[in-house]
Amino acid sequence: MSDCLFCRIVSGEVAATAVHETGRTLAFRDIGPQAPTHVLVIPREHHPDVAALSDADPGLLAEVLGAAVAVARQEGLTGGYRLLTNTGEDAGQTVHHVHVHVLGGRRLGALG
Ligand code: 5GP
Ligand code: ZN
Repeated sequence: MSDCLFCRIVSGEVAATAVHETGRTLAFRDIGPQAPTHVLVIPREHHPDVAALSDADPGLLAEVLGAAVAVARQEGLTGGYRLLTNTGEDAGQTVHHVHVHVLGGRRLGALG
């Protein structure tokens, strides 16, 4: 999808700082980090949100989560970390290409 920002990052049309790659996933640093480590993990293929990905390809969803864990290990987040996936308007999803936020490197506080 040429009008999707994260598809354009996958294609290399938009620059990003990649930190982890597999055949079907890509992880790159968030442009507006909310914690010392803030990485986004995406499938290379376009799926609008986690529900769509779960329906279309649950194996790929597992790969994305596995890549998120690999990123947390690679970033040395031994004190813990948060994996977060905003879905839809109420959650404030702004980029409609499914992504898992990997957040860590400080005490993150409660959600809410
Ligand atoms: P959402 O709000 O949809 O869960 O998360 C979207 C995330 O994408 C935000 O944390 C935002 O900072 C990040 N983001 C938006 N545009 C860009 C960009 O061009 N490059 C990178 N690396 N991150 C982006
Ligand atoms: Zn996309």
